[in-house]
Amino acid sequence: MSTQKISTQALHAGHDTTQTAGTRAVPIYQSSSYVFNNTEHAANLFSLKELGFIYTRLNNPTNDILQQRLAAIEGGVGAVVFASGTSAISTGLLTLLKAGDHIVASSSLYGGTFTLLNVTLPRLGITTTFVDASNPENFKDAVKENTRAFFVESLGNPKLDVLDLEAISEHSKTAGVPFIVDNTVASPALLNPIKHGANLVIHSLTKYIGGQGNSLGGAIIDAGTFDWTNGKFPEFTEPSEGYHGLVYSEALGAAAFTFKLILEGLRDFGGALSPFNAFQIIQGLETLPVRIKQHSANALELAKWLESREEVAWVNYPGLESSKYNSLAKKYLPSGQSGLVTFGVKGGFDAAKKLTDATELFSLLANIGDTKSLIIHPASTTHQQLTVEQQESAGVTQDLIRLSVGLEDIEDLKNDLEQALIKGGQ
Ligand SMILES: *Cc1c(COP(=O)(O)O)cnc(C)c1O
Repeated sequence: MSTQKISTQALHAGHDTTQTAGTRAVPIYQSSSYVFNNTEHAANLFSLKELGFIYTRLNNPTNDILQQRLAAIEGGVGAVVFASGTSAISTGLLTLLKAGDHIVASSSLYGGTFTLLNVTLPRLGITTTFVDASNPENFKDAVKENTRAFFVESLGNPKLDVLDLEAISEHSKTAGVPFIVDNTVASPALLNPIKHGANLVIHSLTKYIGGQGNSLGGAIIDAGTFDWTNGKFPEFTEPSEGYHGLVYSEALGAAAFTFKLILEGLRDFGGALSPFNAFQIIQGLETLPVRIKQHSANALELAKWLESREEVAWVNYPGLESSKYNSLAKKYLPSGQSGLVTFGVKGGFDAAKKLTDATELFSLLANIGDTKSLIIHPASTTHQQLTVEQQESAGVTQDLIRLSVGLEDIEDLKNDLEQALIKGGQ
């Protein structure tokens, strides 16, 4: 299986049709719980002597196929799915960390993740130093004795900064902490962070993987490469009070974190993905490799067209020669740079709002990665709760408009932006 390419894995990995009554489509197992053969079988499942399904908060056959497929595509030893990308991030961090621990994170993050790290986790005693990720040395300089994770987005939303994952991963290795990469915007069809040193990969499945804007979901893929026995993670090497004395690193080896996420993370925080949403997300994942090529091609063409318009002050797309992330994009995103484009208009904040209101084909909403084209003005919406300085370090200038370029005909997209630029852009 592992030698297959992503287009094949996206359609087949994890689904043995002989185990699902021959159904060619992955079926929805809409059941909260599973009948045990007898009490001994039940006891064996709870003690991990046998692996099997117990309760859908922990696992479910439809979700499990999605998990195996994501693990295959990203090159991990296991994957766990969650009710949303945010649930994946919060459950992942709360399973990994405890009060007193510290994170070094890129300052260019999805707004919700930034607030989780900046406001909510500090209430629980978990603090974060945010660094300018364009210089990998900044990660090294921010490491403290209690640092336990590095957290970045491979392609930042909405700054669209491409990070030098390999350089940052070297610093995480020296610090002895897991390197966590949110790969939502790039998608596994364009970039596999594990190949560049990531230990854990996060996805909001809501975006390109689901791809149709109809279902929330999230995932963590575990590379299985992190050494939990390095002395910094006693929760993995000492008997777990939370799971009758299980020593994760001994019992589960490379899959220690995957199992801790299920046995403690999903058990205690409860952010399970609905099997119906897993089914929808599987439908999306099957066509991700073809969709993302077209998203990328449309985005590049629209970015070039915007650069030629006189109302436009600047355009940022990693695939443009003019982008300061172009050389990193050539290394990390050689087959496409995904569907997000940002640009500013000469008229600033007010003109950006006016232009956003004037689009007709682009939908004004807070999402990305839909087949339909989307537009938003982050400074007045998704990043409104941040200070102007925090907005700037997240790459959100007052005039910035973010497009999530969909699969419509490129001429129709240009026509819509053209009339909106004429009406609002100046
Ligand atoms: C949307 C998004 C999230 C959050 O995912 P939800 O499914 O909306 O909870 C996290 N990271 C990135 C980069 C995102 O774009």
